[in-house]
Amino acid sequence: MRAAVMYGAGDVRFEERPAPRIVQPTDAVIRISATCICGSDLWSYRGINQIKEPTPFGHEYCGVVEEVGSAVTSVKRGQFVIGSFFASDNTCQHCQAGYQSSCQHRELVGGAQAPLLRVPLADGTLVALPEVPPSELIPSLLALSDVMGTGWFAAEAASVKPGATVAVVGDGAVGLLAVLSARQLGAARVIAVSRNPSRQKLAREFGATDILPERGDEAVARIKELTKGIGADSVLECVGTQESLMQAIQSTRPGGSIGYVGVPHGVALDGQQLFYALVRLHGGPAPVRRYLPNLIDLVVSGKINPGKVFDLTLPLDQVAEGYRAMDQRRAIKTLLRP
Ligand SMILES: [Zn+2]
Repeated sequence: MRAAVMYGAGDVRFEERPAPRIVQPTDAVIRISATCICGSDLWSYRGINQIKEPTPFGHEYCGVVEEVGSAVTSVKRGQFVIGSFFASDNTCQHCQAGYQSSCQHRELVGGAQAPLLRVPLADGTLVALPEVPPSELIPSLLALSDVMGTGWFAAEAASVKPGATVAVVGDGAVGLLAVLSARQLGAARVIAVSRNPSRQKLAREFGATDILPERGDEAVARIKELTKGIGADSVLECVGTQESLMQAIQSTRPGGSIGYVGVPHGVALDGQQLFYALVRLHGGPAPVRRYLPNLIDLVVSGKINPGKVFDLTLPLDQVAEGYRAMDQRRAIKTLLRP
């Protein structure tokens, strides 16, 4: 098969690779219906994360089961399935507690920007739909594999309550879907921070009530102003930089909560500043698996349409252009069709 391989900064190639096969009896191999490029893939594309050797890329996927190992019982050949970027057994204590991204047997799923993908721990990882969905639902179902589940976790981790005032830091796909998630959880007011017109428009469609073009301290000041000096009840941090996390901490009211899902890069927190902020912090790699059944229902019933974050669709063989478009912020998120 031909698949995407990251060689280093700015160097993604589409080249011949061995097709994945069943290695463990708990594996499944799926034929990818659609995959995509993640904002977190850009850390490597931009050279911030070093690539030691050519690495197959992509961790967001949905598709049709092609083959299962002898121990797999919950999914079968021909079923349409979605899974998360962390394979999980869904049975250990961390999984039972809803933290499948910390599963005691977790494995990172990689190499999804390909026509075929091996998924470990298939029973615990994959959720099957009752039937193969119509093609117009595929982008929204694909979004559940990472960005939608991550946005949802940001909202839950920040304890978004009905009637709450919420601020979202970050206007990437996760930030935009965090806006959608906050509204689904009943937030009355959602303040999004973005200066990009197409992202502002999407934030409004997903339910943002206020859009701020400011950044950093200026954004904090504006959020304080909009909340009569109090700060937001919940802040959803979807970037992962020093500035974005500090912005989140400073715009949360005392007693409020922050859900942080941007992978931190070069972030150091000041203990005293954190102490006096009197906020709750919860975040990390989202336990997407926990949310899949509910989010699948919301998509299939037409209540949410997270697939709107894909503003560029390319055939998989143009994956390099997909990276360029996201790197240059010409695209919010690129969907790839094998
Ligand atoms: Zn587990």
